[in-house]
Amino acid sequence: MTNRVIRQTMREPFHFEGIDVLPGTQARIPLPVGLDPLGRDLSIPVHILHGEKDGPILTITSTIHGDELNGVTIIRHLLYGMDLKPETSDDLVKVENLRGTLLIVPVCNPEAVILDTRRSSDGRDLNRCFPGSPNGTHSARIAHALFEQVVMRGKYLIDLHTAPARRTNAPHIRANCDREDSKDLARAFGTPIVLHSIGPEGSLRRTATGLGIHSILLEAGTANVFEGGAIAVGVQGIMNVMIHLDMIDGNLRRPEWRLIVRKSRWIRSPRGGMLHPAIVAGELVDQGQPIAHVTNPLSGDAEAILSPMSGVAVGLATSPIVREGDPVANIASVQKKKTHQKIRAAPMTEWTVKDVSETLEDISDDESGACIDDTPEDE
Ligand SMILES: [Zn+2]
Repeated sequence: MTNRVIRQTMREPFHFEGIDVLPGTQARIPLPVGLDPLGRDLSIPVHILHGEKDGPILTITSTIHGDELNGVTIIRHLLYGMDLKPETSDDLVKVENLRGTLLIVPVCNPEAVILDTRRSSDGRDLNRCFPGSPNGTHSARIAHALFEQVVMRGKYLIDLHTAPARRTNAPHIRANCDREDSKDLARAFGTPIVLHSIGPEGSLRRTATGLGIHSILLEAGTANVFEGGAIAVGVQGIMNVMIHLDMIDGNLRRPEWRLIVRKSRWIRSPRGGMLHPAIVAGELVDQGQPIAHVTNPLSGDAEAILSPMSGVAVGLATSPIVREGDPVANIASVQKKKTHQKIRAAPMTEWTVKDVSETLEDISDDESGACIDDTPEDE
């Protein structure tokens, strides 16, 4: 009788790569993915925090694209706080307070990080290779190992990304909003902007969602840099999801407004030249407001690019060099006056995550726009 009671209350260890992670402990365990060209072991470190009490398994993945680094430091702050050092008083997530299990992969594509490129060392885009194959290309094998050994073990997934080089994204969540489970997770994360998208074929999020794993993706900032605002949104969002899933104690911090974007519009440059942005990512623009100026570096010519509608700039080009037709800004239209006023009063460019009892939610479904899945590749 006594034995039965003990068995019911003790959590099983978490088995990973032949190692038992005991309840209430954490471990960093390498996931082997073959040998590199010099014959050295290639592996992907997986950080496992196995709480003492029951709860869900949440996987957090970052840097599938080797130049998208904000996620690495989001995870660092999440585990070790602002001082970035383990086991100090400001650590945000501690295994002793955790219910359930966290599987964290700060760097999914280590060789791409070393090469400082979006693509894997074999030239492929790892986020088009899921679920992968044990007999396929190098990227397919990495995808297979990550998917089978890590992602499929969990019920929930947060995948951390940034815009590609030469572009930036206002921090936002992407989710298949036709699925209530993913939409709930997106709402809990708490970014004011949520983009509806099923994701590209072969992407981790789309593949995991298709197999019943509740999945969202953070797009925040740009490649090759650490950005304080984007990182703060990421850390708070993951904490929010963990509170929502009852993995940690705390109060969910809700945004004052939320725009669920089903279609948005890419504004394109009317000419080649040098691009001078007149707005920042996340800014609310009025119809007719200049969003950028294009100048000719060899003459006095200049032309303003005006926003064709009122909306929030979700993505922006950052490279000064533009050609006619290049995307300059991705604008999610805001049609309701009440929503416009709310965004004006609480702009997301201030990067503050408020704690309101109720969020004003609106849908942006611009009939002249396109679904994010049909616009320039990034995720
Ligand atoms: Zn990415």
